[in-house]
Amino acid sequence: MKKSGGKKARKCARCGGHGAVLQLWGLNLCRRCFREMAPKIGFEKYR
Ligand SMILES: [Zn+2]
Repeated sequence: MKKSGGKKARKCARCGGHGAVLQLWGLNLCRRCFREMAPKIGFEKYR
């Protein structure tokens, strides 16, 4: 009994959880992981 159509279920590629997942650099990262990954990738300036 699925509801057809709607949003694609996005999961964080890192932790596989959370709700708000951003699609960046071909990766799906939640906001939490993104903030951790950003400086490592060299994307420090994030507002
Ligand atoms: Zn995550």
